[in-house]
Amino acid sequence: MQSSVEVLRGDVPGTEYRFKVLRFGPADIAGPSAYLQAALHGDELPGVAALHYLIPRLKLAEREGRLAGRVTVVPFANPIGSGQVFFGEHLGRFAFGSRTNFNRDFPLLPSDDTSGLPGDEAPLPVEKRLKARLVKLALGHDLVLDLHCDSEGLSYLYIPKPLWPHMADLASCLGSEAVLVWDGGSDGAFEEAALSPLVSLPQDSPEWARRAVTTVEFRGQVDVAPETAEADADGLYRFLVARGTIVDAAVAPPAPYAGLAVPLENVEMTYAPTGGAILYHVRPGDRVRAGDLLCEILTAPGEPGGAHEVRAAQDGLILTRRSHRMTTPGDDLLKLLGTRRSTTAKPGALES
Ligand SMILES: [Zn+2]
Repeated sequence: MQSSVEVLRGDVPGTEYRFKVLRFGPADIAGPSAYLQAALHGDELPGVAALHYLIPRLKLAEREGRLAGRVTVVPFANPIGSGQVFFGEHLGRFAFGSRTNFNRDFPLLPSDDTSGLPGDEAPLPVEKRLKARLVKLALGHDLVLDLHCDSEGLSYLYIPKPLWPHMADLASCLGSEAVLVWDGGSDGAFEEAALSPLVSLPQDSPEWARRAVTTVEFRGQVDVAPETAEADADGLYRFLVARGTIVDAAVAPPAPYAGLAVPLENVEMTYAPTGGAILYHVRPGDRVRAGDLLCEILTAPGEPGGAHEVRAAQDGLILTRRSHRMTTPGDDLLKLLGTRRSTTAKPGALES
């Protein structure tokens, strides 16, 4: 394993950011290469915990000569977001300086040639230079996995349409309970930047079957535990074996994927009609019928008219809900995975 440190100049004198990159296997090794990063949203840590268990297994595979492809791992991909603490609250989703989501606005390139991307000397805010740096690190790998989590949620994946169902093996290995298949744009999520050099390939190109690009959502923000992390690491390891990056005869091929795979437009984003205390009546994993009570927003507890009901727009599965309990008008409350297109579906990412 080679460990190196990426350095980014801060936006003001006296500041800089650093993050580690771990590389396994020689650069010229011929098998499928893999890139994994975690904590792009600085407060989403199940992926970090999974890598804690995966990295020793990669080291062992390297030591035993069982790496057929190189592997690059960035355990904390966003030192800016990792360091954003506001009055004791860690806020890692949006850059404090611009309110830009750290997982939007990545450069979308037509090929793996990253020579045109800005370097650290460019007169750009550090968050933009970080995004360029991560794209430089990731492009050129066959398998690109960006490890995130939701607020509270099931384990699920975002997968670009041309890669489905080729990537059903990953969903099987990770025990994902749902796959959201997206088409069109994602407002420049990292996943879209990793996909961008491939989009001109014809749909029937054999290249799709050997590539993987995904945003992995490892449940919710507080689901950081040895048991889930070890299981997630095991799933990632088995996927790398299935794709031929690691050789391990003891690992069985993935079983057929048995979970849901639905178009992104079927997700019912459910919003708060008013501000107040959220009283959820459902949790991730629950199945609901159209019209079922999902939650109440309490504005005047115990008084007539003091609870505002939010009901299911269609039949489906509760995929996620928020971990906070005080909401504001228009705030996201939950994601309901429906069986038909949502009447409020819109292009781009589900959330800001
Ligand atoms: Zn995230």
